[in-house]
Formats: sequence, structure tokens, C-alpha cells
Amino acid sequence: MKYVSTRGKSEPKHFLDILLGGLMEDGGLAMPESYPKFSFEELEALREMNYRDLAFAVLSRFADDIPAVDLKTLIDRTYTAQVYCNGRDPSVAEAITPVKRLEHDLYLLELSNGPTLAFKDMAMQLLGSLFEYALDREHASLNILGATSGDTGSAAEYAMRGKRGVKVFMLSPWGKMSPFQRAQMYSLPDANIFNIAVRGMFDDAQDIVKAVSNDLEFKRRYAIGTVNSINWARVSAQVVYYFKAYFAVTQRSDQKVSFAVPSGNFGNVCAGHIARMMGLPIAKLVVATNENDVLDEFFRTGVYRPRKTAETHATSSPSMDISKASNFERFVFDLIGRDAKVLSELWTKVDKGEAFDLSATPFFGQIGDYGFQSGRSSHEDRLRVIREAFERFGVTIDTHTADGLKVALERREPGVPMIVLETALPAKFEETIVEALGQKPPRPAGLEGIEQLPQRVEVMDVDADAVKAFIRNNAE
Ligand SMILES: *Cc1c(COP(=O)(O)O)cnc(C)c1O
Repeated sequence: MKYVSTRGKSEPKHFLDILLGGLMEDGGLAMPESYPKFSFEELEALREMNYRDLAFAVLSRFADDIPAVDLKTLIDRTYTAQVYCNGRDPSVAEAITPVKRLEHDLYLLELSNGPTLAFKDMAMQLLGSLFEYALDREHASLNILGATSGDTGSAAEYAMRGKRGVKVFMLSPWGKMSPFQRAQMYSLPDANIFNIAVRGMFDDAQDIVKAVSNDLEFKRRYAIGTVNSINWARVSAQVVYYFKAYFAVTQRSDQKVSFAVPSGNFGNVCAGHIARMMGLPIAKLVVATNENDVLDEFFRTGVYRPRKTAETHATSSPSMDISKASNFERFVFDLIGRDAKVLSELWTKVDKGEAFDLSATPFFGQIGDYGFQSGRSSHEDRLRVIREAFERFGVTIDTHTADGLKVALERREPGVPMIVLETALPAKFEETIVEALGQKPPRPAGLEGIEQLPQRVEVMDVDADAVKAFIRNNAE
């Protein structure tokens, strides 16, 4: 399997060649030359597999330059009931991504029982193992630099902690994260994890990452890498749980199901699109956004209008507060018939902060052929749906998952099971849960006193040179 760039100007590469990188050389995103396909018979053969075997069956099609025994070992070490446990019954945890029935033809796919209580662990944990493997082979090392407003940074740190050859330098806005999120990141004792809190906002932290990455000499010298959401390995690892959930709610591999996906950077739902292209019988992929509705607007109108930073709302589902969706380029590449020239023209506009409009092209009419639908929700919707889920289904869901459930209830069709992807546990967003339910959400065992643990963080001004000096002193 080789990977081409959406912009068409990079040489095709193998899985391991794109594993540690971000963008392709021409600024595009990596896409498989063609999608591996599963027939009805092949799907039936996957039906009874446990998560690890299924992950191998799917991922070995994408990572065919990793020897099968090695890939199987990495997967077996990553997806264990211990890592995805959270104090649950071991027989439930063994499913890794169990499906909970809410009512007839309505399900919740539990993806948030990894170490940081968000679905990002599902892919990031595997990425940690893959990075270590690839670096070991080349006797190389990597310094991961990132900026986070909460979820991504902690998922990356928990995935990379203790990994040989990797150090993580994670920038966060000082005083802007919840006490729980701060505790999650800053209490990590591992010697290869460095938390840097900048006296500024998330965007200031992001700008420092860009400034450091644009210093090509520094970047090369200190082998600076990223773990952002455009990483192909991350997206492909997420394909697996669509298969797992499909088999959990169907009896035969010609039945259809739909998924509702709380979306920000379009990584999660992009994995659903890939699963569908691989032959998984998916009826609808429902993209759920919050007040930052750049994606909902596109699916309704055909106009993709990235927002200015100042136009981006801070909401109660903060991990979906995005101004543009970095993985969206992958879907549009398929939608426009994989024409890299047209794609490059569209993204020349996006990269300048401008909009593009497909409404007058045949492509707009074809969106339905790919199963996509969308919807958005507001803070009021979120509170109402969290209450409804509690009263009607007896579950406490987090704010992002509530955005998914809200749109799922609007879009479901008779006779087609609808699966809502749970993207975080409510314990991460206590404040809004208290606002909705008047009580705190349950906290998984072992995390009760996390805010009291000793914390380790370097506090700095918004100054790229100071961050560089810190990396120079501590790099691999
Ligand atoms: C990252 C995140 C999302 C958005 O996922 P994308 O892959 O960026 O679309 C939704 N919910 C939670 C809790 C997240 O952490």
C-alpha cells in the first residue's frame, strides 16, 4: 500500500515513511492510493473477532510494510482490558469499545475508557507504540512539540510516557484549563514528558509551535515532530472501532447502520468515511458540530468557510471549537474524484483563510452518495440532551457526546440502527454536567484525588526563543 498526497506533488510513500511526519512535502495530506475492500464474505469472517484481531485485520491492510508479527505484537500490547478499563467489570472492558443499547435501534459506542477519558486515546495509544517501534528500527529519536487546550495534549502525553527515543514538549495556556485537565497533564512524573504553560491563550501557544517549526534548521537539528490530528496512522486506527461497533449491533453483514459523530477536526468521522469506502455497510455518517458550525454549514450549503480565530466561539464542548477542520481535505479529495489539481486550487483559498463554494458543481449533489449528513447544537441543546439521556436512558454523557446524540435523534431513520460515538467521559467536563443535572458526574476509580497530586510544569512568557532554549537544554 502506498500513500499519495491530496495535492499531487509528492512521491508516493509507504506507511512507515509517513508515520512520523505531518504534512506531505507539497503541503497535502497522505491518502491511500486506493481503499482496501472487504467483501460480504470477508466481513462475515471478521464478525466474531475480538478488538485486537479485528484491529490487525484492518490495519495490516494499511501498514503492510510492518512485518505481520511485529504489527500484531504492537496491537496486542496496546488494546488491553487493563489500559481501557476505568474500573469497569473486566468482561465489559475486554470489548475495548463496548456498545451500550439506549433504546430500540439507538446505541452509544463507548470510546472513552482509555487513560485520559477521551476517544483520542484509542488512536494515540497505538501511535505511541508505533513511534517507539519505528524509532528503534532507525536508532533515531524524536522530540514532539505540541500545543493543547486540553484533550489532545494529555492523550499524547499518556501515549508517549516512558517511550524510548521520544520526548514530549507540550505547551498549554497557563490557568485556562480545568483543574482536572491540569492535574491530568502536570502530575505526570515521567522524565520524557515536559509541560510548558505559557502566560497567554491557546492561540499564543499554537503560534509558538508554528514559529519553532518554521525554523527549519532548529527543527532538523532537534528532530522536532508532531502528533496532530492529520497523522494518517491516527486516522486509520480509528477505522477499527467502526467495524467493531457495526458487528456488535448487526447479525448479518448486509444490514445497514448509521453513525453520529461529534466533530471538530474531522478526524473521527473521516475514519467512518474510510470504513464505508472499505465496504462496511454504513447508511449515514452524521457530522455533529457545536456552535462552531463550519462543517454543518458545508454539508447544508456546499460552502466551506473557515472562520477567523476571533470568530471561533468558546463553548461547553471545547474540543470541537475549531475554525477549520484539518482532516476535511481528505474527504473533499475523494468527493472531487481525487483530482489533486482541483483540490490544490480549493486549498490555496483555504490556506489564505478564504472560502470555497461547491454548491454549483455536480460534487455538491454527490455528498449524499457518501452518506454524509450534518447538524449542530447549542449550549441549551447540550444541557437538554444531557438531561434527556439521564432521565430517558439512565446514562450520564459528556457535552461533546451530547452534541452527537442531539443530531442523532433528529436524523435517525426507522429500521436503521443509529450508533452515537461517545468521545469523552462526563468526568472531564464536570461544570456543565452540574449545570445540566445539578450533580457531579461519576469519576472513574483511581482518579478521585488527582487534583491533589504534585504537579510539574514550566511557566513561561509567550516567547518562542525561551521555548527553543528549553528544548535545547532538554531534548533527546
Ligand atoms: C477531539 C475531540 C472531538 C473532535 O474530534 P475530531 O476528530 O477532531 O473531529 C470531539 N470530542 C472530544 C471529546 C474530543 O476530544
